[in-house]
Amino acid sequence: MSIKIRPEIQSLKDTIVSTRRDIHQYPELAFDEHRTSELVAKRLTSMGIDVQTGVGKTGVVGTLKGKQDGKTIALRADMDALPMQETSDISYKSVHDGIMHACGHDGHTAMLLGTAEAVSKSVDNLKGTLKFFFQPADEGQGGARYMIDDGALEGVDEAYGIHLWNYQKYGTVGVKPGPIMAAADIFKIIIHGKGGHGAAPQGTQDAVLIAAHIIQTLQTIVSRNTNPIESTVVTVGQINGGYNFNIIADTVTLKGTTRAYTENNRQLIKDRMVEIIAGIEKTFGATIELEYEDGYPPTINDPVAAENLLNAAKKIVGDGAGHPYLSMGGEDFSYFLQKVPGCYFLIGSAPQDREPLSVPHHCSHFDIDERALLVGSSVYLQLIDDLLSV
Ligand SMILES: [Zn+2]
Ligand SMILES: [Zn+2]
Repeated sequence: MSIKIRPEIQSLKDTIVSTRRDIHQYPELAFDEHRTSELVAKRLTSMGIDVQTGVGKTGVVGTLKGKQDGKTIALRADMDALPMQETSDISYKSVHDGIMHACGHDGHTAMLLGTAEAVSKSVDNLKGTLKFFFQPADEGQGGARYMIDDGALEGVDEAYGIHLWNYQKYGTVGVKPGPIMAAADIFKIIIHGKGGHGAAPQGTQDAVLIAAHIIQTLQTIVSRNTNPIESTVVTVGQINGGYNFNIIADTVTLKGTTRAYTENNRQLIKDRMVEIIAGIEKTFGATIELEYEDGYPPTINDPVAAENLLNAAKKIVGDGAGHPYLSMGGEDFSYFLQKVPGCYFLIGSAPQDREPLSVPHHCSHFDIDERALLVGSSVYLQLIDDLLSV
C-alpha cells in the first residue's frame, strides 16, 4: 500500500492531530458547538480567511477567494458530538459527562482546518473561491438545512462532504456516483383496540395481536414490494403496551424507521405502510393511527463530482480509492446535494490492528486511526488543486 500524504499536510500533522484531540476532549451537542465554532473561527481568521459565524445557529463559514475568477466550491465538516458516555481510557477522553465524539466529527473539523491552513499558504495558486463549511448538528437535527436557510449555498457551484469511516481500513477512500447514504424516516403507529379479560377474548380487539400482524406484514414491504437489487430497510425498534399477563391490551404503540436509497423506494414504503395499516384496521376492526415523519433525504452523489473525488483520492491512496463500505445510515449533507451537485465520501479510519467492524461509529469506545486525518486533509487539498488551481 503506497500512501502519498501531501507534504503541505504532513508538515501540519501535529496541528491536525492536536486539534482533533482538543475537540474530542471538549465535545458539544447539536447546536451547542460554541467552543468548537469559536476555535474554528479563530483558526480561520489566523489563516487570513474571511469568517462568518452564526450561520445555521452555531455554524461557521470560511471564505477564501483566489486571485483569479473560477468556480466556487464548498467543503464541509460537521462539528457535533453525541449524547453518550465515553468508556475508553485515552488521554484526551471527553471531559463532558454524557457527551462524546463517537462519530468522528472532531476529526472532520480538524481535517478541514488542516486543508484550509495548507491552501491559505498558497492562495496565489487558487483560481476561484473556496467555502469552508463547519456545520452544526448533523446527528439528527439537520444543521445543514439551517445553514442553507442562512444563505450558505449562495454562489456555490459544487459541494463536497467528508466522513471518517471505521468500517474501512486506513489507506482507503470510499466514493461512488449515485446514492451513498440512505433516506432515514421515522414512524409511529398507535393501535386503539378494545381491552378485556385475558380469558374472555370474545368482543375484544387485542392491540397486542394486531401489533404482531402489523410488524410481520411491514416486513413484506422489503421482501415482496421493493426491488431486491435496491436496498431498503423497515425496522420496528420499539413496542409499548399492555398491563399484565391476563389482560387483553387496548393500546399498543410501535416506533420504527425506514431506509431507502431512492426517493421512489422511499415513497413506495410510505404508500405500502398506509395500505397495510388500512387493511389490518379493517381486518380487526380497530382504529390505527400512522404518524410518518420525513427524516434526511437520500445522499446522492453527482457522477462528475464523484469522478473528481475518485481521481483526487487515487493520487493519495492509489488502489485504496474505490467502492465504499455502504450503510443505510442517514446524512444531512443530502440537503446540500439536493441544491447543488457534489459528492460525499468516506475516509477509512478503522483503528490500527483492529478489524474494521470492531470499533463501530456511535459506540462508547469509538476511536480512529489518526493517520486517516492526514489522508482526509490530503484528499481535500488534492481536490482543490485539481479543480481550482491556476
Ligand atoms: Zn453519527
Ligand atoms: Zn457522523
